Amino acid sequence: MSGRRRIGVMGGTFDPIHHGHLVAASEVQAQFGLEQVVFVPTGQPWQKSHEVVSPAEDRYLMTVVATASNPRFLVSRVDIDRSGLTYTIDTLGDLGAQFPDAELYFITGADAVEQILSWHRVEELFGMAHFIGVTRPGYSLDSAHLPDGAVSVVEIPAMAISSTGCRDRVRAGLPVWYLVPDGIVQYITKRGLYRDEDAAPTAEW
Ligand code: ATP
Ligand code: MG
Repeated sequence: MSGRRRIGVMGGTFDPIHHGHLVAASEVQAQFGLEQVVFVPTGQPWQKSHEVVSPAEDRYLMTVVATASNPRFLVSRVDIDRSGLTYTIDTLGDLGAQFPDAELYFITGADAVEQILSWHRVEELFGMAHFIGVTRPGYSLDSAHLPDGAVSVVEIPAMAISSTGCRDRVRAGLPVWYLVPDGIVQYITKRGLYRDEDAAPTAEW
């Protein structure tokens, strides 16, 4: 391994950001000696182009709130400020230009690594960053179809949390305390995120 500074890149919809994302980033930061991990909320993710996602500014602000206390975590607006669908190749291109002297480590869930082969210009992607596939309960990584050494796998301590699960809980009036940081619970309530438009307001948690 070279002595260049190492920068992690954690892309995601972050709708909302939850402790699974934060633990994964922290674990990879420690294991790979990353100087910083840059969280990059997507614009409109191409994989989710038919789904309704919360406004980019809400997802960006939640990411800022959740990462603010960790000096190794940063948030980038590159994807939300770029128009059109978000492609990882553009994310890595923009961050490579911003950190020209760094080796990039792209952190992604095992579920997403399996889709990597369907990503745009995949050979080019592997040349732009090391890929770290983080596994969570219920997912295992089948790297059989990936080029040798292209993807490292890191197991994240039991974190069966997903944004979908958090959104469903909010919609059902169930608490998301301790699944997401406290500030995110409060932000979701303040902005009325994940409630059905015409549902009756529920009591404050
Ligand atoms: P959704 O349920 O809406 O798909 P998500 O929880 O998968 O949301 P994303 O914003 O899609 O969250 O995820 C960003 C990245 O974090 C993806 O690479 C995803 O695989 C990874 N990730 C999500 N949840 C976890 C978790 N609990 N542990 C480790 N990685 C995770
Ligand atoms: Mg997901």
